Amino acid sequence: MAEKRYGVLIAGTGVAGLCCALSLPRETSVLLVSKAKADESDSFLAQGGICMLRGPEDFAGYFEDTMRAGHYENDEAAVRLMIESSPAMIESLVRYGVEFARDDAGRFRFTREGGHSRPRILFHGDVTGKAITSCLLERVRELPNAVIAEETELVDLLCTPGRGGECFGGVLRDNATGALSAVYADAVLLATGGVGGLFENSTNFRHLTGDGVAIALKNGVEVEHLDYVQIHPTTFYSEKGGRRFLISESVRGEGAVLLDKHGRRFCNELMPRDVVTGDIRAQMRKDGTRHVWLDMRPVGAATLREHFPTICAHCLEEGYDVFKDPIPVVPAQHYFMGGIKVDLDGRTSMRRLFAAGETACNGVHGKNRLASNSLLESLIWARRAAAAMAQLPAAGEGPAPDFAAYGDYAALKQDYAKKVRDEAEREAYCD
Ligand SMILES: Cc1cc2nc3c(=O)[nH]c(=O)nc-3n(C[C@H](O)[C@H](O)[C@H](O)COP(=O)(O)OP(=O)(O)OC[C@H]3O[C@@H](n4cnc5c(N)ncnc54)[C@H](O)[C@@H]3O)c2cc1C
Repeated sequence: MAEKRYGVLIAGTGVAGLCCALSLPRETSVLLVSKAKADESDSFLAQGGICMLRGPEDFAGYFEDTMRAGHYENDEAAVRLMIESSPAMIESLVRYGVEFARDDAGRFRFTREGGHSRPRILFHGDVTGKAITSCLLERVRELPNAVIAEETELVDLLCTPGRGGECFGGVLRDNATGALSAVYADAVLLATGGVGGLFENSTNFRHLTGDGVAIALKNGVEVEHLDYVQIHPTTFYSEKGGRRFLISESVRGEGAVLLDKHGRRFCNELMPRDVVTGDIRAQMRKDGTRHVWLDMRPVGAATLREHFPTICAHCLEEGYDVFKDPIPVVPAQHYFMGGIKVDLDGRTSMRRLFAAGETACNGVHGKNRLASNSLLESLIWARRAAAAMAQLPAAGEGPAPDFAAYGDYAALKQDYAKKVRDEAEREAYCD
């Protein structure tokens, strides 16, 4: 990293970080840092799809579905903004080169997931996140004004902390060498994703440990609802450790059914995630089992093959042929509704500090996220944050870094993890 001063510093190369970079003016120099490889983000893992308002007649239904899933704790203005902005966001994705499933006439095809009253989810097989994020990453790599530093971690902000504080950049750590450096910027975006790495069972990448939230807590930036942690009802049950493999909600949307140990259905599979999770947990307790079964055969062989090839292949690798047998599934940590408190433009309580994506809490999801709303929300808030950043005057001189404070890196990380985990597990909503 030759230059130590940038227009914008972005921590995270998931959809939120990438979309922010693409939305900034070309004359703004941008540094994106990623704790792991640039393509190791949860955005790449999204299977089900991305929601889109299908037309004015769908607004009330989409709004109500989002609010109902969120237990009506959602911020109504944020929900309205997300829904209204969705067609333009999808249009941008298509312009960037993202391909979604279409019918023979070239019109979008839509699928359905739990909590949705009608199909309104665009998809690309069962690898929608990869289709979107790899395309955005390619476009960012082409930008003349942006640089990506992989395996480079944001460990702290350069800021005047607390109420009325101001952010001037960040302290970075090269994870290969352990070297620390300071980068100054006129604005900083925290787009560090979720908290799944703090949980034993999670669908998230293990390196996603809520760093953005920990850094916010350390510097007195306002956070909200850190205990709103979503558990996904259906992940593949395995005795192996590591990341849990997700069995997308749209499998149930297309007809798959949940079965108890006697092979009997025991719930409505199309209820929102927290309801289905609660039903599965109750059934496991009743049956004295560590999982329930998901029968994908009602979906039909053709749809399974065409729409869910990755899921079918993964189950086969694990010894289950979804065309012949039910598969074992169990709920696992999946998504983080709480986070760094932001307004409708991604502004945090600290001047020049923005947050977007899963690490941010803009109120869209309330107490529980509706399926396939998060890629959309991440993209929209990242774009709005970029627009707000572009209005900022240049920053003054920031404080000098105190590198000695980060000398014991392992202890610092443990402290960060503990702070976030204590909050997140306070209620561990719906677990
Ligand atoms: C298995 C799975 C399936 C999903 N399916 C869907 C779906 O179908 N539809 C949908 O809408 N949503 C889905 N989601 C949720 C959605 O993928 C995420 O909420 C969304 O991608 C979050 O994007 P993000 O940019 O905020 O974070 P991420 O994509 O997770 O990116 C976080 C980035 O931050 C970096 N980072 C972390 N800490 C640091 C640090 N200290 N310094 C520097 N960089 C750091 C990481 O390396 C990474 O680059 C799914 C999630 C999972 C796990």
